[in-house]
Amino acid sequence: MSRESKKFGVPDELANLYDFANTLDVRHFTHHGVPHPQGDELISARELARWMSQRGLAPTSAKITPAMFATAIELRTLVRDYLQCDPLERRGNKDAVRALSKALKYFPLVVTAGDDGMVLRAAREDALAGLSPIVAELYDGSRNGTLDRLKMCASDECRRVFFDRSKPSTRRWCMSSLCGNRMKTRSYRERQRNAG
Ligand SMILES: [Zn+2]
Repeated sequence: MSRESKKFGVPDELANLYDFANTLDVRHFTHHGVPHPQGDELISARELARWMSQRGLAPTSAKITPAMFATAIELRTLVRDYLQCDPLERRGNKDAVRALSKALKYFPLVVTAGDDGMVLRAAREDALAGLSPIVAELYDGSRNGTLDRLKMCASDECRRVFFDRSKPSTRRWCMSSLCGNRMKTRSYRERQRNAG
């Protein structure tokens, strides 16, 4: 769980997934005259190791090799691609599903019995095992339906992953007051231009 996930009411059981998807910040809008700085929290294996250990996701102090780092970034890219699909269409989106499945093969899980009942844990024992809880969150969220509320903001200047807490689960923007308004103003201007 992070400050961000708490602030936006993301359930704990999806918080690592939410944070992981948002380690890439491609927002490039200007708000109150200030351009939003884009960024990537995972620019190197060292940053990934730090990110994992800050969240208690580093089961070992084993090194993250360049190949492991590439595997982790590939997972993030494909998770973001999957979340970008409308929840109603995700399962039917063959390309997104196939690509994500391929990336998930590197993060096998095993069922373990413990104090908290049956849980999915990493089958890997190396540094990448630290990302397995994120894959377990994908699985659990898909089973209990909360994953359908994890979406990507429809604004192409934003693309932030957000958790839709609205009852009908129909939100399209991470913040309607910002991204929603910006998009509405833009399409209004475009309509005006086309009409004129
Ligand atoms: Zn947004």
